Amino acid sequence: MDTLVSINVYTKDLAADPGIRRAIAAAFAEMARLDSLMSSFREDSEVAAINRCGATGGEIEVSADIDTVLRMAQWAAEISAGAFDVTVAPILRLWGFGTDSAGVPAPEKIAACLPLVKFHDMALANAATNRTFGNEKSRVRFRQPGMAIDLGGVAKGYVVDRGLDALVQAGIRDAMITAGGDLRTIASPMTSGQRYIWIRHPRVDTVSNTTIGAEGKNFFGRFRLDAGAVSTSGDYERFFIKDGKRYHHIIDPSSGYPATEAVSATVVAKTSVQADALSTALFVLGPERGIALADSLPEVEAMIIYHEREKLQWRATKALQEKLKIF
Ligand code: AMP
Ligand code: MG
Repeated sequence: MDTLVSINVYTKDLAADPGIRRAIAAAFAEMARLDSLMSSFREDSEVAAINRCGATGGEIEVSADIDTVLRMAQWAAEISAGAFDVTVAPILRLWGFGTDSAGVPAPEKIAACLPLVKFHDMALANAATNRTFGNEKSRVRFRQPGMAIDLGGVAKGYVVDRGLDALVQAGIRDAMITAGGDLRTIASPMTSGQRYIWIRHPRVDTVSNTTIGAEGKNFFGRFRLDAGAVSTSGDYERFFIKDGKRYHHIIDPSSGYPATEAVSATVVAKTSVQADALSTALFVLGPERGIALADSLPEVEAMIIYHEREKLQWRATKALQEKLKIF
């Protein structure tokens, strides 16, 4: 998925715990398996096969993993009124972020692709809840030829969740997995109360946590979290500058152009797949509508950084605001 994944496991005595290396290997293996299904960067992924079906319109059988991710995607699309929409793929292709041919597409091309961005025209059959009634596989149907999906806004979160499951299954009780802007953590009493989540400053290059100064220089803020998931979407992750203007990878599906309301959106949730989908959704919605949406969801916290009068401002849900230290 074109990102760096790291797994940290905390233990008092590595020598006394030989299962740890095996647990980490199992987690990486599971995450690699999912990468080969969901990556938009591989011709041989399941997503690529789904998109070949979308090109002609029609129906295709999908794995349980893809089914789970697509259900989360459709939930995020519904509650965000389409701000999050994995069928934005045809527009993403025009922009070409992350490829050598990234550039501003002709407005006619964007206008021609926009009708294909419509999550309601992607139907999921055989709900996961029905699976116990038969062996029928889940299926996806595209109602318009030319449709395609891009799981870049949600798949990393799912992969982090499954990696953490693999660790827990192997007996690990204290760990953190990070994959680019997505992370999930569990703490045992050994580290409980000691873990900080640092929110990147969107306009300062934060090389690694080794550059954290005592006062958190280079970071925008921090808060404490023992168990849960955090995802950040930012306009600084994948972008190019043309004629002094920043064009980044998070598209507002209503316009086909990069969303302009936010600079970064951070979401805290129970699972990484939910935090991931919501951070992308909130980025598109912006501070007003985004924080209102987070406030309406149980066990979801959020902070959005945005531009106002040439300056960076931020807004957060109440519970997160109380925990946040802003530098
Ligand atoms: P994230 O960093 O999780 O916000 O994901 C950004 C990625 O999500 C982009 O690189 C695209 O692959 C994809 N994406 C862009 N815009 C949208 C959107 N409006 N809804 C869903 N996915 C999107
Ligand atoms: Mg996301």
